[in-house]
Amino acid sequence: MFQLLLNSLVLLSLNIDNQSSTNPPKSIVEVIKNSQIIAQNSKKNQQFNQLKQELETAGFEVIIALPPKRGAYGLLQVSTKKIWINPVVFDLNIALPTLIHESVHASQVCAGNGQITTLGLTLNPMNQARPFFQGYTDTHRRDLEREAYTVQTQPNSFELALSLLRENCKLSN
Ligand SMILES: [Zn+2]
Repeated sequence: MFQLLLNSLVLLSLNIDNQSSTNPPKSIVEVIKNSQIIAQNSKKNQQFNQLKQELETAGFEVIIALPPKRGAYGLLQVSTKKIWINPVVFDLNIALPTLIHESVHASQVCAGNGQITTLGLTLNPMNQARPFFQGYTDTHRRDLEREAYTVQTQPNSFELALSLLRENCKLSN
């Protein structure tokens, strides 16, 4: 990531030297945009790694590999406390929300002392999240998924997921 940022900056300064026009040339705008995207991705990577580490501290194993259930982006196996993260989520740029979703299930496992249980969140899910859990016919499963999708779609999803994990899995600070 640092390497990529440095390349962008070098590219940017080369472009400035080559242009005499007062309007920023399109290429500079694009490079700046790319730098912003890289910076955002770098922050997301940092948050992903932090959450992964906290999950491991809480006794969960985070495995970056195809989950045993076909088509799943992420999966938590309650009996083994294993969390699979499908490598495709990195290409789709949804690695962080995927880990956040599974971390909510991890908090649910901690809350139930090994038996997965709802956290009793009072937050309401965003409307666009509803189709993802309303299809579950098993109401217990639907409630578990509702909480995971609700947290995942909050603007402060990372901070929320982290504090839920720390609180329910009794991690320090
Ligand atoms: Zn889920």
